[in-house]
Amino acid sequence: MAVTDHVDLDTFIEGVKRRNPGQPEFVQAVHEVAQDIYEFIGDKEQYHSAQILRRIAEPDRVVSFRVCWEDDNHNIRVQRGWRVQNNNAIGPYKGGIRFHPSVTESVLKFLAFEQTFKNSLTGLPMGGGKGGSNFNPKGKSDAEVMRFCQSFMTELYRHIGPDTDVPAGDIGVGGREIGYMFGQYKRITNRWEGVLTGKGIEYGGSQMRPEATGYGAVYFLQNMLKHQDDAVDGKTAIISGSGNVATHAAEKITQLGGKVLTLSDSGGFIHDPDGIDQDKIDWIKHLKTVKRGRISEYCDEFSGASYHEGERPWSVKADLALPCATQNELDGDEAKAMVDNGVMAVSEGANMPTTLEGVKVFHDAKIMYGPGKAANAGGVAVSGLEMSQNAERISWDQERLGNMLTDLMEGIHEKCVEYGKADGGYVDYVKGANIAGFKKVADAMLAYGVV
Ligand code: GLU
Repeated sequence: MAVTDHVDLDTFIEGVKRRNPGQPEFVQAVHEVAQDIYEFIGDKEQYHSAQILRRIAEPDRVVSFRVCWEDDNHNIRVQRGWRVQNNNAIGPYKGGIRFHPSVTESVLKFLAFEQTFKNSLTGLPMGGGKGGSNFNPKGKSDAEVMRFCQSFMTELYRHIGPDTDVPAGDIGVGGREIGYMFGQYKRITNRWEGVLTGKGIEYGGSQMRPEATGYGAVYFLQNMLKHQDDAVDGKTAIISGSGNVATHAAEKITQLGGKVLTLSDSGGFIHDPDGIDQDKIDWIKHLKTVKRGRISEYCDEFSGASYHEGERPWSVKADLALPCATQNELDGDEAKAMVDNGVMAVSEGANMPTTLEGVKVFHDAKIMYGPGKAANAGGVAVSGLEMSQNAERISWDQERLGNMLTDLMEGIHEKCVEYGKADGGYVDYVKGANIAGFKKVADAMLAYGVV
């Protein structure tokens, strides 16, 4: 049997950079995973000779398309749309759609790559994909958002399907956008089928899906703490973001007896030393989803809170941290300040919010650090359960889904411990998540031969 030359890690990363020019986010995500996978595959010749890592780091396909729409002033606007189908070894492509001006092919390729490992970790049969557009929904009327979503779906529909690729929400895509896109898919195809998840409860959505990512990130945190005989109760937490993930993470921290000190948006962060309790969280949910306002308005409503324009919340002293906004929102210096401030555990509700330098700081300090691909997998896991319910044409109740979510997060934590435990009780959750996520996908790919 021919034995392939093993390229070393640095050469592999150089190759990824060369083949993906101008795509720093994608290279960053592959780099982070490759470090652990290289250690794991070591002398396992089957993964080397089949070039498994090289193949996972090359999307099955990237579809790019033009999206034209008309704004309320009758101007014709042109946006770019994408769907990255990274890997479907273990199930249909699955992953969200992001509408944000920062969306590029690099960002979507990194997200689809991460999603492949995340979805594998859930234990459910889902491959990895991601899509989106540089469309900015902020400041647009409902009618404009509807026209954009319809135009986007008019192109996307030919690439997706309940057994092919099942998109969902992400930044800038919530219940409203999913409704418009599902309606358009149904109109074009004349089929009512589970082609999107995160749908409204009236039309095939699942109980617990809105809560799942944020609650799941806190359950993961709870599992990490429990593993060290500790708990959320009585601890303070700093959280970034104020969207669906951040507000539900804040809600669950509060329910478990913790005190949430901060939330943020792209303009800055609010610090409320009295704690952001359930009433305040409900007010923020309304502000963000109905009024579509800014987090700075919090300080006009609740005295005692301060607004820090243009800043991120990582300098506020706390026990726990949940980055729930976006990628690369926490760098090496901020991570160092957090460690110096006594942060004991970090659970990522967002995808890749910590830079490679930041991850190294947490790792060297040996604090509990749950990377997004494990900690925020609750959202896509309940999406997987929405697919099952749609296929069965049945809806399960909230209690059942709530229990399934806690069990799924416990299972993900266990897998991370299995592959990530080190000396002295320390668990390297990044390594655990990468290896456990990789193994299932890699073994399925080996079974298929060269495809
Ligand atoms: N966008 C979410 C994520 O990053 C959810 C994806 C889904 O439900 O398919 O995992």
